[in-house]
Amino acid sequence: MQHFPIFLAVAGRRIVVSGGGEAALAKLRLLMKTEAHLSVFAPAPDPQIVTWAEAGRLTLHARALEPGDALCAVLFYAADEDAVEDARSTALARADGALTNIVDNLEDSQFITPAIVDRDPVTIAIGTEGAAPVLARAIKTDLEARLPARLGPLARLGKAFRRVAETLPHGRPRRDFWADWYFRAGPRAIEDGEDAAQAALDDLLADHLARKDRPGHVAFVGAGPGDPELLTLKARRALDEADVVIHDRLVGPGILDLARREALMIDAGKEGFGPSMTQDRINALIVEHAKSGAQVVRLKGGDPTVFGRLDEETDACDAAGVTWHIVPGITAASASVAAIGQSLTSRGRNASVRFVTGHDMKGFADHDWKALARPGEVAAIYMGKRAARFIQGRLLMHGADRATPVTVIENATRPDQRILSTTLADLSRDLSEADLTGPALTLIGLAPRAAITLGTTIEPRLQEAL
Ligand code: SAH
Repeated sequence: MQHFPIFLAVAGRRIVVSGGGEAALAKLRLLMKTEAHLSVFAPAPDPQIVTWAEAGRLTLHARALEPGDALCAVLFYAADEDAVEDARSTALARADGALTNIVDNLEDSQFITPAIVDRDPVTIAIGTEGAAPVLARAIKTDLEARLPARLGPLARLGKAFRRVAETLPHGRPRRDFWADWYFRAGPRAIEDGEDAAQAALDDLLADHLARKDRPGHVAFVGAGPGDPELLTLKARRALDEADVVIHDRLVGPGILDLARREALMIDAGKEGFGPSMTQDRINALIVEHAKSGAQVVRLKGGDPTVFGRLDEETDACDAAGVTWHIVPGITAASASVAAIGQSLTSRGRNASVRFVTGHDMKGFADHDWKALARPGEVAAIYMGKRAARFIQGRLLMHGADRATPVTVIENATRPDQRILSTTLADLSRDLSEADLTGPALTLIGLAPRAAITLGTTIEPRLQEAL
């Protein structure tokens, strides 16, 4: 991060602008939203600036900036639209002690102005370090469309009410109250005006004060295969509300970042130093936190119901009288077929698909190999890398065609996704040559659809792998 975002207190302080043309106008329109005292220095100011000066919205000096003009200014903008004059005025303002910005000159600026979404007092600043103003604007447009237009008044009423709301106990009761205000009761009430909203705020507090403590609860949430955009809306909300997140090793940082900053994050799949946490220990942790009243998210890679040892954890909750629910996620098999442009089932090819595990707790897992070896069968093998040779042997022994297509997808949906396309005969050899280190799913009976028919986003990866 080359630029650190902060919100600067400018009410009652000076901001100086040098220049009186288009660039100055654009900056002034933005600056006039603040409560700062604006001074403009321009030998030939635009008539609009003169009008603003006459209306008392800024102080205009119809001359070029001179030494001492930027004294006591917190910020200075050079909007002279002339490189020489910009450099001159900036040097003067710096000597006067102001932080300086030259419009459209990232390199010589001490600060830059972000794209701003303004729902005063809620202000969102978007910066790209000057790399992609188009992107910043697109994000701004997107946020503008998404945020309630009346968020400003809601936040202002809320701010004035903060003290009163402190009658609620710290932590969850207070958070629940504010979540209710901003996302449920508030937006409804503000439709009828600010007086109605104020009354609604009082009612809401009375309602929350009368509530008993919300008991702890566990959400078993699917984090999907890795791409944060493949989280469900419910998963996002659960992460937003969690006090404690107990996650697997497979869940990537991009997803964990979505949890509240105050949430306690527990890595239940730690590797490296010492063995990963035992299942009993995980069960105990989940129950312990829920019993203490926390909203617990047990975050699992993919879908929690697929090879996720979910039942052991839900049984532990039941035994302890802890309530729970499941939020499904996209399982690795779905993500992997999508990556190769195939479908899991296909009319005339396979009317069923098997999700099998390469190894279980006792070693390599046994399956109905005979059925799996039939032509046209499709199987998605989880945790199958180490068992590849075993699976290959079993299938060939039961008469599977040596040319059966097999595709291994490593890190599906992640930036480092790799696709290995091979056949049953060559599976274990190609797999050991490819030296895959990430989580990988093996699809028996499916080859990547011809690269030509695939979208351009997939094609290069495929070609690299083939
Ligand atoms: N509940 C998970 C599966 C857990 S078992 C799900 O529904 O996806 C762990 C196995 O899932 C890994 O060994 C690997 O075979 C597979 N897997 C998980 N994430 C994957 C990914 N992003 N790409 C490929 N395989 C993945």
